[in-house]
Amino acid sequence: MRDELLKHAKRIVVKIGSSLVASRDCGLRPEQIDRLADEIALLRTGGREILIVSSGAIVSGIKKLGLKTYPKNLPVKQAAAAVGQSRLMWAYEKAFERVGFKVAQILLTHQDLADRRRFLNARHTLTTLLAFGVVPIINENDTVAVDEIRFGDNDTLAGEVAHLVDADLLVILSDVDGFYTEDPRRNPTATLIPLIPDVTEDIEHRAGLSSTFEGTGGMATKVRAAKKVAEYGVATLILNGGKPGLLPAVFAGQPGGSLFLARSRRLTSRKQWIAFTLRARGSLKLDDGAVEALTKRGKSLLASGIMDVSGRFEAGDPVACTNRDGKEFAKGLVNFSSETLARIKGLKTPEIQQLLGQQEYEEVIHRDNLVIL
Ligand code: GLU
Repeated sequence: MRDELLKHAKRIVVKIGSSLVASRDCGLRPEQIDRLADEIALLRTGGREILIVSSGAIVSGIKKLGLKTYPKNLPVKQAAAAVGQSRLMWAYEKAFERVGFKVAQILLTHQDLADRRRFLNARHTLTTLLAFGVVPIINENDTVAVDEIRFGDNDTLAGEVAHLVDADLLVILSDVDGFYTEDPRRNPTATLIPLIPDVTEDIEHRAGLSSTFEGTGGMATKVRAAKKVAEYGVATLILNGGKPGLLPAVFAGQPGGSLFLARSRRLTSRKQWIAFTLRARGSLKLDDGAVEALTKRGKSLLASGIMDVSGRFEAGDPVACTNRDGKEFAKGLVNFSSETLARIKGLKTPEIQQLLGQQEYEEVIHRDNLVIL
């Protein structure tokens, strides 16, 4: 199954972690990028398409600016990213030129994908580049990204890119061999798990314990990305990119790394975007009747089923729906602001009309804009 999956994966997003291409002492390591480019070029046989999400801008920038420590201050980090990004691209450009491929630089923020038009636009640009045989090299646009619009780490960004381009496989290359039963750096008896059919709570818990790994996110963000992309039908391979030759060997059927299987795709592209790209700005607590209407009877959400409104949001914003116990079970685009909803929660349509006059919408979240998670 594993071999079949790797053999048939046609569109692959390869995430390359900072520790593979840069270090605080040496700055950028172009020789590592050359090696990875050679190995990635080997995968591009049989019409395979590759997109790369590469970290390393900040770490290379730190060295280039002569900073002694990792900056805490955001503008300094952003300055380092700007200085480092051009160096990173220079290395990728040269490395892929040697093996006969063109590259393109794409810098994204979460905001670019949270707007449906920009999301589709980014998708068109990336697929056009792939059609030209170009290898897109993607990173977060660290120079302009402040907290609200950040992906935060490149595992998350790579997951979103895999969704954006409808990839078959996400490969996360870092300096660890894969997913272990425990953190192997703390417990030498930990064993590698080669195949993970489902990201259970136990797997997530184990990943959370291993947060000492290098990089921004450690194992926790990798497993979170794997879980998220599995939901929209993308498998994830976590592999040690620091071992020369391992990447092509694994694609040729050798063992290595941990493969997280995908679930079957069940949502339309727009609903996937609502479910996985958008971040909820608030939440609505629903009574049992509304929970049942939404989950079992395929209905839209009406104000009468809302018990509580939290967060501040405007009409059109994404919000989460929870049951009485606060467990999130759905997400959707809301037709009313939080302020209006606080006034009309629990009311029936005629009562709402009396209070606010005739409204454009009856539904608080229309079924077409609602996803059951
Ligand atoms: N975008 C950051 C960089 O290029 C890396 C973030 C991460 O490693 O997760 O340095």
